[in-house]
Amino acid sequence: MRICVISYHSSPLDPPGSGNSGGMNICISHLYQALSPFCEIDIFTYGSRRNTKLNSSIDVIYLDCQNLRNFADKVISYHNSRRYDIIHTHYWLSGVIGLLTMRKIKIPWIHSLHTVEMLKGIKRDQFRIEVEEEIIRVCNFIISPTHKEAFAIKEIYPKARIITIPHGVDVRTFTPSIDGHSKLLFVGRIDPIKGLDLLIDALRLLKYDIELDVIGGASKGEHYFESIKTYGDGLPVRFLGPIEHTELNQSYMKSGMLIVPSYYESFGLVALEAMASGRPVIGFDDTGLSETVGADAGILVKRNAQNLAQAITSLIDNRELRHNLGLIGRKKALGYKWENIAQRYLMTYEKIIKG
Ligand code: UDP
Repeated sequence: MRICVISYHSSPLDPPGSGNSGGMNICISHLYQALSPFCEIDIFTYGSRRNTKLNSSIDVIYLDCQNLRNFADKVISYHNSRRYDIIHTHYWLSGVIGLLTMRKIKIPWIHSLHTVEMLKGIKRDQFRIEVEEEIIRVCNFIISPTHKEAFAIKEIYPKARIITIPHGVDVRTFTPSIDGHSKLLFVGRIDPIKGLDLLIDALRLLKYDIELDVIGGASKGEHYFESIKTYGDGLPVRFLGPIEHTELNQSYMKSGMLIVPSYYESFGLVALEAMASGRPVIGFDDTGLSETVGADAGILVKRNAQNLAQAITSLIDNRELRHNLGLIGRKKALGYKWENIAQRYLMTYEKIIKG
C-alpha cells in the first residue's frame, strides 16, 4: 500500500513543544513509523530543507511552495509517478491541499482535523470554519481521536462520515517509576488555549507552597509567554522551556501529577504520556481526557480554578491515591501502544481503498 500523507504546516521532524509543533507532529511520526512495515509512505510538508528518510519506507518530502495550489500540483505530479492508494491529510491547511488535489485526481482521501474550529470555545476563525465544513463534505472519511469529538462533529455536520481511532503513546519511552514527589507538572506549547492562567489561579488558592514545573516553549509568540510568566510572579513556578520529547519521561518521573488545564483539548497526548509514566492526571471533564484518563487514572473536574485547586490538594495529601491512579493509568496506556493503533489505521485504509 502506498500512502500520501500531507502535513503542510509543520514537519514530523520538527521538535514538538513550541511554535507550530506539538501533538500532531508526534502522532504523524509515530503512527507512520508503526505502519512502515506494511506500507510505503511519503510525507509532504512545506519547507526548503533537504528530503529526509524517517526510515527505509518513509520519505519526508519538503516542497518549497507556500502557495497551496502549487503545493497540490506538486503532490499530483508525485502521484503520477508513485501512484498512491490513499491520501491522508492532517490539519485544515493540509485539508485545503486535499480539496485542491481532489479536483484533479480521484483517490480515497481521509482527513484528520486535529482541532475543530467550531468546537473551540474561544475566538473562532470564520474562514477556517467554512474550509473545515467543505473538507468534511468532500473527503471520504474524517478520523477523530475520541467518540466525544466524533459525536460533537456529527451534531454540527450531520452528514459527516467519521471513524474514531485514538492517538497512541510510546510505552517504551514513557515508563513508570515509583512516585516520591508531590511536584506539579504542566507539559505543552505555551498557548492561551492551554489554560496556564487557570492553573496559576489554582496555585494561588492552594494552602501549600508546592512547586510547578512548566515545560514547553512559546507557541503564539513571545508576548504571551512573557505575560503568563509575569502572571505567575511570586509563585513557585519554574518555566523550563521546551524539552526534547525522548527526555520527557524524566520530567514525568520527577512529578507527582500532570495538570492539563486546557480550555479546549481534542485529545491531549500529554495525558497519555503521564499515564504511561504512572502519573495521575488532573484536567477538565469536557476535554478529550474524558476518554483516556476517564474516572480512574486521575481527577477530571468542571472547568474552574477552584475545582482544579481542590483536585490538586486531594492528590498532594494522598500518596497512596496517586500511586493507585498512576497504576491504573499505566495499565490503560498499554492499550494505546502505537503498534495497536497502527493496526486500526491499516484496517481502515484497506477498507476505504477497497470501497
Ligand atoms: N512536548 C515535547 N516537549 C515539550 C513540550 C511538549 O516533546 O517541551 C510534546 C508532548 O510530549 C506531546 C506533544 O508535545 O507529545 C503535545 O501534544 P498534546 O496533544 O498534549 O498538545 P498539542 O500540542 O497537540 O496541542
